[in-house]
Amino acid sequence: MGRWVIPPEVHGNGRFVIPRREFIPAYLKTYEEGRLKEKVEEALSHLGPSCRVCPRLCKGVDRLANAFGVCRVGRYARVASAFPHFGEEDVLRGWRGSGTIFFSWCNLRCVFCMPPDTMVMTEEGPLPIQEIFERGERELDYAGGQVRFFDQSLRVFTRHSRLAWVSKAFRHPYKGDLIRIEPYYGPPLLLTPNHEVFAVHPSAPHQVLRVRADQLTGEHWLLVPKRNGFHSVIKPSHFSEEYIKESEDFYLVAVQNCGRLAYQGWVYNLEVDDPDHSYIASFVAVSNCQNYEVSQLGEGEELTPKELARLMIRLQEMGCHNINFVTPEHVVPQIVEALPYAIEMGLRVPLVYNTSAYDSLESLRVMEGLVDIYMPDFKLWTPERSRKYLLASNYPEVARQTIAEMHRQVGELKVDEDGLAVRGVLVRHLVMPGLLDETREILRWLAGLSRDTYVNIMDQYYPAWKAKTDPRYAEINRRVFRREMEEAFRMAREAGLWRFDARWRVVIPGIEWVMME
Ligand code: SF4
Ligand code: SF4
Repeated sequence: MGRWVIPPEVHGNGRFVIPRREFIPAYLKTYEEGRLKEKVEEALSHLGPSCRVCPRLCKGVDRLANAFGVCRVGRYARVASAFPHFGEEDVLRGWRGSGTIFFSWCNLRCVFCMPPDTMVMTEEGPLPIQEIFERGERELDYAGGQVRFFDQSLRVFTRHSRLAWVSKAFRHPYKGDLIRIEPYYGPPLLLTPNHEVFAVHPSAPHQVLRVRADQLTGEHWLLVPKRNGFHSVIKPSHFSEEYIKESEDFYLVAVQNCGRLAYQGWVYNLEVDDPDHSYIASFVAVSNCQNYEVSQLGEGEELTPKELARLMIRLQEMGCHNINFVTPEHVVPQIVEALPYAIEMGLRVPLVYNTSAYDSLESLRVMEGLVDIYMPDFKLWTPERSRKYLLASNYPEVARQTIAEMHRQVGELKVDEDGLAVRGVLVRHLVMPGLLDETREILRWLAGLSRDTYVNIMDQYYPAWKAKTDPRYAEINRRVFRREMEEAFRMAREAGLWRFDARWRVVIPGIEWVMME
């Protein structure tokens, strides 16, 4: 590994550095002090007879008896996916990825899908994927969503421009981030983070790869088939060769930008009868529904404590710099229960708790001495807007209590000599269009907590689902203007904050690629 140009916002000229040889994960200390067993018992007692693991406090739901509440998760945690994640902040992703474990908010089977209005290229022209689903027959409930079947009634174009029958269409409820991929030429495409697209990377220019949406970088080129049923895609002469390359059957179009946006709603996918397992969404070749990928996690998504521990170890063995629990609010007891097994199997990397900040204080206190890095997302400040956009008017109050408690436990973000986070709080805040007054209050409050709070002020908001279609949300039906982002940073500086997250590592997944000083 070479030496990174680590920004002062990260290391604070040594103020925020804990040398790696001195770092001991919090959970290991607690274990060695013999306090982990009582934490496991306390955590499990929150599951029943009335679950109080998260602020929803589902009355009468005894998860110890495998009953389900709002989160639809019973006695054992359900994992949607787990992999080295290269889309996280540089202090977390490092050069070998953040070992991310996505917990299902419900019992959806996996998350390789796209939102309802995604255009799929069919023999009848482009059709929204939702409309294709609605044309299917014989609806069956399937893994928390529905599946519909097709009897050779519709064909779609594959990435080789062949026509192939749609055999099934699926849909599931999904809550989490979508990846918005913007090619240089062509409309943007929204996908769940681990939906794969076909792309080429300059390190292997003649090899078409399947790349997960959240692992695409500005170095990838997307595969755009020339024939897609809508029309033959012709490259206008003014398109720059710098961003588009042509072969006999397809174009390769450079990725201009990849961002994230929060989403809650249906996501869809198709199964296509073609050995190539592909179809074309929004001009770009994407991967078919592939349940076999889920089997990486074993047949069941429901994991016992030992299985969850093994998953953590597998990510550590893959070289991940940390274990990053995403949306863990409803499975805190199950994580705590898995830790003694993971420690005995050799877990040593920091634990990251990555949350919407809608956590119960009781659960957070159980996590004290177990979590090394808290990563809350502070979304909105006012109860009115939280009611409108998040359907939880007590969100700001809960988020303030949550983040203050996290700060009390682990303090400001600290890194090792390679700029990898080892301890502390990293706060995310997504700037919303026209809601800078919310941003201002949030930033002021964070500065009050500590002026050294490490903040990722994000511009990736993109209107989706109801924000796009429902007139009640018209005011947020646009991207954030550049001047709004500039204003957000000005507000942050004015409040006294200065540790802003930015990209500073050059990383290609799978390749140890470094920027030298
Ligand atoms: S974790 Fe929250 S949503 Fe799930 S059952 Fe418990 S209180 Fe309800
Ligand atoms: S890829 Fe298939 S099985 Fe997985 S969530 Fe999407 S539709 Fe369901």
